Amino acid sequence: MSWETVIGLEVHVQLATRSKLFCGCSTRFGDPPNTNVCPVCLGLPGALPVPNADAVRLAVRAAIALACTVHEVSVFARKNYFYPDLPKGYQISQFDRPLATKGRVALDGDAPQEIGITRLHMEEDAGKSLHDQFPGLTAIDFNRTGVPLIEIVTEPDLRSPEDARRLLTTLKQVLEYVEVSDCNMEEGSLRVDANLSVRQRGSPLGTKQEVKNMNSFAAVERALAELRDLQIATLERGEAVTLTTYSAGAGTLRPMRSKEESHDYRYFPDPDLPPLDLARYGITTRVERETLPELPSAKQERFRATYGLSAYEAGVLAATRPLAGYYEAVVAGGADPKTAANWVMGPLLADAKQSGGAYRVAAPRMVEIIALVTDGTLSNQAAKRVFGAVAEDDAEPLATARALGLVQVGDRETVIGWVNDVVSAHPDEAERYRTGEARLFGFFMGEIMKRSGGKADPNVVQQVLRDRLG
Ligand code: ADP
Ligand code: ZN
Ligand code: MG
Repeated sequence: MSWETVIGLEVHVQLATRSKLFCGCSTRFGDPPNTNVCPVCLGLPGALPVPNADAVRLAVRAAIALACTVHEVSVFARKNYFYPDLPKGYQISQFDRPLATKGRVALDGDAPQEIGITRLHMEEDAGKSLHDQFPGLTAIDFNRTGVPLIEIVTEPDLRSPEDARRLLTTLKQVLEYVEVSDCNMEEGSLRVDANLSVRQRGSPLGTKQEVKNMNSFAAVERALAELRDLQIATLERGEAVTLTTYSAGAGTLRPMRSKEESHDYRYFPDPDLPPLDLARYGITTRVERETLPELPSAKQERFRATYGLSAYEAGVLAATRPLAGYYEAVVAGGADPKTAANWVMGPLLADAKQSGGAYRVAAPRMVEIIALVTDGTLSNQAAKRVFGAVAEDDAEPLATARALGLVQVGDRETVIGWVNDVVSAHPDEAERYRTGEARLFGFFMGEIMKRSGGKADPNVVQQVLRDRLG
């Protein structure tokens, strides 16, 4: 039978604010447990929440970047449940009137497609239960309680675990571009709940199951593939798929509980918070849209159109804002766009990978190195060595090239000397070349380059050699 996989994601993203959503406590990661807490985020009686305007603004900017309709007025609602890390007994979230609805994300690739965003709403995070600190006991850290999040819910538009992963990569890229979040999964600033069902092509949607606790995008893809295989096996045995939530924490899927439904949470508007009216925070959708940075897809398109790059090159160079900025600085410095692309995608990214992501050769230095190749001072090979040295000590490229003895020799007299030496040392090959063995030209080129210690300007060598053998 031919099964079709259907996937929708719920993505929680921490907003990059300094303080929490409804109080002034710090959101800093890694502080000692329970040091960033106050009566509001601990849910002490009588404490009242006050929304953080920065968080609201970031949520609005995320919604615009994801092409959502932003609602001028939305409503904070209480989602009621008991858990030890939720001191109030409810989470402030949004329910039937979310901040934003109906967005979309473009997934490019072999078959470009658009994935719908159902909604984007604001909510506060819960605390963290620590099961591994004290044997037999659970400890609770309330530092995360009240940290601002957005939840982004996609339509069930995804058709494979691979596409789910690509969507996450794209989402992260967009949210990093607009500086809404650092999307750091290790620190919990991006979390994914993935929903999957299978069906016969053309049939109505099947029963979905949910999987949580994946710690990387690769883990999301793996967990979804495992869940898909489980469901197909179940259905092929003639059994029914049941509403179940799984945890992928331990590597392989483990059922956690039967799924709760939204009416279980007894949502109601939070009586402590007036409706979230953007105007009261001086937030206008138009202004936020106009001040949004260029988004990744627009930047890629511009790179292709302006600099004549391939889709692949544009994709790599526009992957992050810092990289795109670096590339454009090199081009603005006068480098040929295609040459600059090769240097950035090659030596720069290779070096960054080795050195913890830093761009150790500043853009103006890169411009100089490229110029030294263009004007014939350095061969490509020599320039790569200069690049390596500049990466280490940020020295001046031309001075570095001189110090390393890499400056290319284009002086005719010197080159003639090397050519004569090599041709005289190989009379047989010279004779064979003259009698028609044209490929021996390459042999002589190689020998002369060796003789010069790699410093001879290949263009000059070619001319001189042709004269000498001709
Ligand atoms: P719930 O109320 O259980 O949270 P929602 O309707 O809010 O369910 O959907 C949650 C997520 O599950 C969304 O991302 C949605 O796209 C996805 N989803 C809904 N139905 C299905 C289905 N049949 N198969 C796969 N994903 C689904
Ligand atoms: Zn607080
Ligand atoms: Mg839901």
